[in-house]
Amino acid sequence: MPGFELFGAEERQQVNEVLDSGVLMRYGFDGMRNGHWKARALENAIKARFQTKHAQLVSSGTAALTVALAAAGVGAGDEVIMPTFTFVASFESIIALGAVPVLVDIDDTLTLSPKAVRDAITPRTKVVMPVHMCGSMADLGALKHICDQHHLLLLEDACQAIGGTYDGKPLGSCGDLGCFSFDYVKTITCGEGGGIITNNDTYAKNADHYSDHGHDHIGNDRGAETHPFLGYNFRISELNAAVGCAQIKKLDDILKIQEKNYEVLKDSISTVEGVSFRRIPEGGKENYSFLNFFLPTEETARQAHKALTGAGVDACFYWYDNNWHYYRKWEHLMAQHSLGKLPKEVKEGLQYLGEADFSASDHWMGRTISCLIKLSWSEDELKERASMMEATLSKVLTSTTI
Ligand SMILES: *Cc1c(COP(=O)(O)O)cnc(C)c1O
Repeated sequence: MPGFELFGAEERQQVNEVLDSGVLMRYGFDGMRNGHWKARALENAIKARFQTKHAQLVSSGTAALTVALAAAGVGAGDEVIMPTFTFVASFESIIALGAVPVLVDIDDTLTLSPKAVRDAITPRTKVVMPVHMCGSMADLGALKHICDQHHLLLLEDACQAIGGTYDGKPLGSCGDLGCFSFDYVKTITCGEGGGIITNNDTYAKNADHYSDHGHDHIGNDRGAETHPFLGYNFRISELNAAVGCAQIKKLDDILKIQEKNYEVLKDSISTVEGVSFRRIPEGGKENYSFLNFFLPTEETARQAHKALTGAGVDACFYWYDNNWHYYRKWEHLMAQHSLGKLPKEVKEGLQYLGEADFSASDHWMGRTISCLIKLSWSEDELKERASMMEATLSKVLTSTTI
């Protein structure tokens, strides 16, 4: 997944252009910049690559989610439906706006279950937020249908699946708004950074103003801009955007390497009886950043994870026990531990978590292993990894089924 594996002279050149001009701020200072507008250039490249009318860069993927929600008018007491398997950023961004994260089950796609979404809709629901975890997407056709029926917005968190597609459309561009992260471990990186894409003119304008203190960005006098509404500072710097300008040009090469490496590993372990694979919704194409597979039981999955790690197959994850990505370990959310008082709407809105039943999610996550696909493996390393994975999984499954 990480773009930092293919890091080099191109990134350095882009950053040096910013350092030479001395203008590290994305707005203003027109006379000093020697024509360098890195954030603008990256936004243009994003629009072209992901086929959307608008792109707004911000300081992180978490900021992108927050700004996208704010741009769509989400506020106190609104409910946002999100999956139990994601990153903590999902509920952080929702709570930051005084809105309520409504966790619902995942299915064998490891993303939002459309049925669970339907069951969670209330009169306060405003947004459905699928998270395309580990390189593959939610069933966007089914979710879009539900959103249309109930007049809800579809906001795609494509932070982990940039470059994947659904029905031929880039992930992130299928809903009303889409978000990317360009943090250091994502498929392409700015160091830190995030982006929002949309075809909606109002959301785009709102995102542009909101992410820069609500400034209206009209005219050339920065200090004279007015504020149509309250905002915040979620700006990206020119230095970060410059890195992204080099990285986005490498995206298609990165995706090709990931797919090739993924297919070698998948071919190898698909011969092991008892191993099955995450379902990719019809019409979907992954970005191949992870190979995700199921073991027959929670017990065998734990054993397989331990055995793989012991055999030196690094970067394989058992998310069921993970603090960052799965609801079972989000004790701070369950206990509502915040530094200050949470808004009343959030406190009351989160009450349901005390008695929520996510056994359907546990059924899938308890059996899932995800292996990161690296770009830097040599042919020999890849072959060795493939045979090691196959041998290790076979051993675990034969010894436990006897
Ligand atoms: C990385 C990530 C984010 C947040 O991105 P940051 O740039 O690290 O703030 C949000 N959602 C998912 C699914 C992610 O993987």
